[in-house]
Amino acid sequence: MRLILLGPPGAGKGTQAQRLTDSYNIVQLSTGDMLRAAVAAGTKVGLRAKTVMEAGDLVSDDIVVDIISDRIDQEDCKNGFILDGFPRTLAQAEALEQMLTEKSLRLDAVIEMQVDDALLTDRIIGRYTCAGCGAGYHDKNLRPKAAGVCDKCGGTDFNRRADDNAETVTSRLKAYHEQTAPLLPFYRQRGCLLAVDGMAEINEVTRQMKAVLEAG
Ligand code: ADP
Ligand code: ADP
Ligand code: ZN
Repeated sequence: MRLILLGPPGAGKGTQAQRLTDSYNIVQLSTGDMLRAAVAAGTKVGLRAKTVMEAGDLVSDDIVVDIISDRIDQEDCKNGFILDGFPRTLAQAEALEQMLTEKSLRLDAVIEMQVDDALLTDRIIGRYTCAGCGAGYHDKNLRPKAAGVCDKCGGTDFNRRADDNAETVTSRLKAYHEQTAPLLPFYRQRGCLLAVDGMAEINEVTRQMKAVLEAG
């Protein structure tokens, strides 16, 4: 299965992608995670992306399109993948369409996660992840069962993203509405757009995702 999760920053794309990979035996491809890894490693791409990401703007299309094109050729993507945070512009969506055609791969669905802007700042400011395994948490909405200990790996180190602050969130939401929201009519026109209520509780969103996927 090949899916795109489409939604504003903080909508829950990463949270749901982590769950769907387990259920459908497919991999999560997050361009945000890949870019953060490049920044941490200090690669050429990382150096170009760092200031752009810190400002909450979008990294150039050619960089992310190249990253994704290389990534989906790898062996672990054979059974399918969930794109989390890509595509984010019409140019990226068009490049993806062309890339999939060239690789003879078909997209099964695009799932829109609908969340009001008013909720997103709180989601983003409260977000943190396990440094050991990448499991996602939230100060109020999703705490580890034992305080300070990751449920999944037992790790005790956690990270917060440099761009998860109130100032940057405003630019990121603006980028979403101006550059990413036009992908909704693009995929609706292609007949593959599904939607879930991203404001529901986390388990309920997962349930809705599976339901819309099974209904086709
Ligand atoms: P995205 O990948 O779309 O930016 P995340 O999956 O990282 O979003 O979620 C942002 C934050 O909100 C995380 O801290 C996560 O734990 C929390 N969260 C995700 N989905 C929900 C939900 N349905 N209800 C409440 N909090 C949520
Ligand atoms: P979120 O889901 O919270 O918006 P991501 O981890 O997906 O965050 O992205 C973090 C940042 O990485 C974005 O604000 C942007 O600067 C950059 N980025 C990630 N994916 C893309 C993409 N497909 N195109 C351009 N920039 C991207
Ligand atoms: Zn962990």
